[in-house]
Amino acid sequence: MAGTKGRFAPTPSGCMHAGNALCYLLAWLSARSQGGTVVLRVEDTDVTRMSPSATEQTFSDLAWLGLDWDEGPSPEERTGPYFQSCRTKIYDQYFSLLRERGAVYPCFCSRRDVRLAAAPHEEDRAAIYPGTCRNLPPEEAAEKAKKRAPAWRLRLEDETVSFSDVLRGDFSCEILREYGDFPIRRADGVYCYQFTAALDDALMGVSEVVRSRDLLSSTPWQVYLQRLFGFAPPRFIHIPLLLDEDGKRMAKRDFSLSVRQIRRHYAPEEVVGALAFLAGLQEDSTPRTAEELIPLFDWEKLPREDIVTPRALFARCAADGEEAER
Ligand code: GLU
Repeated sequence: MAGTKGRFAPTPSGCMHAGNALCYLLAWLSARSQGGTVVLRVEDTDVTRMSPSATEQTFSDLAWLGLDWDEGPSPEERTGPYFQSCRTKIYDQYFSLLRERGAVYPCFCSRRDVRLAAAPHEEDRAAIYPGTCRNLPPEEAAEKAKKRAPAWRLRLEDETVSFSDVLRGDFSCEILREYGDFPIRRADGVYCYQFTAALDDALMGVSEVVRSRDLLSSTPWQVYLQRLFGFAPPRFIHIPLLLDEDGKRMAKRDFSLSVRQIRRHYAPEEVVGALAFLAGLQEDSTPRTAEELIPLFDWEKLPREDIVTPRALFARCAADGEEAER
């Protein structure tokens, strides 16, 4: 669709891994193959977890992969509206709206309290909040707040939330019962991912969200929030996870298969070609530029199951792993 706006939304808390690279490549290809644009937003609300060098590395890795963006920080800029750490005033405004409407309430529960009181939950899914602070009398809340700053949770209506995913089809849930009230702002004042991502996708006019399937459990909350503020939710595509050769999920903290490491051994076209092969866009790992993949791109080709990365594909990185272990 012309007018499509996709996005890259990296959290620069560590090095981008091959799974992140696949996600950005597919987000870029989907937008570009529709003649659309891409926005880069840096999700760095929790500045204590971020590292400036990881931000630099992310920008550099994207450029190296040949993935450009139309809106976002310029190469010299390390501040500004595309960094969530600079958007607190905007979040404050929307948070005030929720407070005025009585749609949020202070919550004094620790993470541990929530975990202990919560119903069992699926892998990847936050514990369902049991509602402990939902109906605290205001005087009691005020009293507690003298001792300890509260977090703030969204008070969900008992509604059905539905959306559809390009790869996974229609999705529908009873949000209050199956997901529960969720935090919007932490006790230390940092706004939470669900809130900032949902709001920024809407405010930045993002019409297409491509991300890994482990974030599917966040989507009902984000759709709910966007509707609450009167925004139309974007189109969602939750892609399979890229697993390492042992079938384990990749994590930013693992040294293995970071783009930084891969760059030492491979040319960008080799990596892009290998990722395209893993995504089913081509039969083998013939080197390609991202640009060259645009005509080959089709969501229909993507596997529905998680993708195991064969050892041979990034074999030149194996020696680094052994070195790191010694
Ligand atoms: N910032 C998140 C990450 O880097 C992605 C969030 C999203 O795509 O909604 O894992």
